[in-house]
This record gives sequence, structure tokens and C-alpha cells, in this order.
Amino acid sequence: MSARLLDGRALAAKILAEARLAARRAGRRPRLAIVAAGGAEAGSYLKAKLKACEAAGVEAVVHRLSPGPRAKTLGLLADVCASADAVLVETPYPRGLSAADLAAAIPASKDVEGVTDAAYGRLFLAKTWKEASTLAAPCTALALARLALAARVPLAGRRAVVVGRSATVGRPAAHLLTTLDMTVTLAHSRTKGLAALCREADVLVLAAGRPGLVKPSWIKRGAVVLDAGVTVVRGRLKGDAAPGAERRAGALTPVPGGVGPVTTACAVLSAARLSSRR
Ligand code: NAP
Repeated sequence: MSARLLDGRALAAKILAEARLAARRAGRRPRLAIVAAGGAEAGSYLKAKLKACEAAGVEAVVHRLSPGPRAKTLGLLADVCASADAVLVETPYPRGLSAADLAAAIPASKDVEGVTDAAYGRLFLAKTWKEASTLAAPCTALALARLALAARVPLAGRRAVVVGRSATVGRPAAHLLTTLDMTVTLAHSRTKGLAALCREADVLVLAAGRPGLVKPSWIKRGAVVLDAGVTVVRGRLKGDAAPGAERRAGALTPVPGGVGPVTTACAVLSAARLSSRR
């Protein structure tokens, strides 16, 4: 049996329709500032965001911050924040800017990805999905929760295992799955017996960035596998699930075309909602 593919592009289109409605509620075209490192070509993620903004009626303005004295960079970032309804910063962050700098510089009311202490705290205080799903939050984590719902399998009371505990992907994804009433285990590079743990998962979230880490035999038959891993191997994008995962899983996100487009759409929806609340 081959797994049902969870089509990230189709779900992204629905989320962008929600974003379009939120943008209309703002009463004017919302303005999203996207801050990126200076110099580099616009990468595929940035291009995808610009296209998604266009589809949702959100005006995206890209600001390239070139490396320079830290005080100057922070000053430029403050100007960018003042000029927009919503702000997001592409990774890798512009040289000289840390996650803590961004958390301090971006007003919580304009924070698309929930990087500020206030937004991050609010997310973790939310107990239910109804509360959490309306908040600005790390977009890949939101995308993973949306995809778990889109798989249309029972979630409440079932086991989820999240592999990866970063502040922006694994940890908030684990929290969001608890808001969907799943019982969640968060695994990381020091976890013992990872294979056996994964085999217990009804929903298995992969966010380690280790291509092919999770072998088909680690997957419970019929499980939902949500693969956020993206690594370029010999010019091709690879997820954390090894080839053959589709023979064990009941549903699986493809790489590419799974978590990525939904993440982008969640960012645009967050920007439109922040603008409509201003
Ligand atoms: P990260 O900060 O490097 O975190 C990776 C996590 O995986 C860490 O918690 C690490 O454990 C854990 N890990 C590493 N090797 C492991 C192993 N062998 N067994 C178990 N756990 C292991 O990465 P990230 O930013 O969270 O991103 C994770 C992946 O998602 C990457 O491939 C990234 O490209 C991808 N990503 C995708 C999207 C998207 O839109 N699709 C967006 C963002 C990120 P320790 O904490 O112990 O080090």
C-alpha cells in the first residue's frame, strides 16, 4: 500500500483564501516588510513568499540589510518596522542580527512569525487549538498542525512524536499538537531509542534536518508522517524520511510540495491578520 500524499499546495491555496479575506477586512492593502540579508539573490523561499503575497492581496516590500555596524543595522531594522503593518525576517538572518535582536526590535503587534517574547509566550499560554490557531506563531509549526488536521484522522488522545526541538519548528509544533489534544513526545539528538519511539507515533513530525534519518521500519503502519526536513543533497531537496516511507505511512507530506508551501501561506495569513487588527 502506498501512502496518501498530503498536498501542501492545495492546503496553501485554502489558507491564502483566508488571508485574502483578512486583508480585505484591513480596509486597505496590508503592507508586509520582508527583511533579508543583503547581497544574495532572491532565494526560492523569498520568491514563493512574494507570489503568495500577490495572491492574497498583501503588498510585500523586501528590505535588504547589508552587513554593517550593529547599531546602524538595528536602526535600519527599526525604520523598517515603523514603515509596515507586519514584519518578518528571512533566515539566514542578516549578518550581525541575532534571534534576540529581532525579538527586541520587532513590535509584538507586527510580529508575523511569533519571534518576540510576548507572541511566543502567548502561543505557549494557549491551551486549545481555537485559541492558538489565531495567534502569530512560528509558521512551520503552524503549518505542521494544519497538515495534521488536513490528514483527517483522529488526533485527540492519539500519540504524536516530534523529532527536533528547535525554538522555531519542533518545540512549537509539539505544543500545537497538544492543543489538538494529542499526547506528544519531543525527541532530539540525545534521545535514546528513537526508532522504537517513532514506531509508537500515530502522527510523526520530522524536523531534524537529517535527510533519510527515519527509516521505513521506524514508521507505524498507517501513521501520518509530516516531514518538515529540507536538505539539499546533490542539488535535490530531501526530507528526513528515507525512501520507502510511503510504503508504511497512511499519509505523508511530499518534499518538496508538502510543509513548505503551507508555511509560506501561514506567514501571509499572519501578516494579513495583524494588519486587520491595526
Ligand atoms: P535545527 O535548529 O538545526 O534543529 C534540528 C533539531 O533536530 C534539533 O533539536 C536537533 O537536536 C534535532 N536533531 C538533529 N539530528 C538529530 C538526530 N540524528 N536524531 C534526533 N534529532 C536530531 O533545525 P530547524 O530550524 O528546526 O529545522 C529543522 C528542519 O526543518 C531543517 O531541515 C530545516 O531546513 C527545515 N525547515 C523547513 C521549513 C519548511 O517550511 N518546510 C521551515 C523551517 C525549517 P538537538 O537539539 O539535540 O541538537
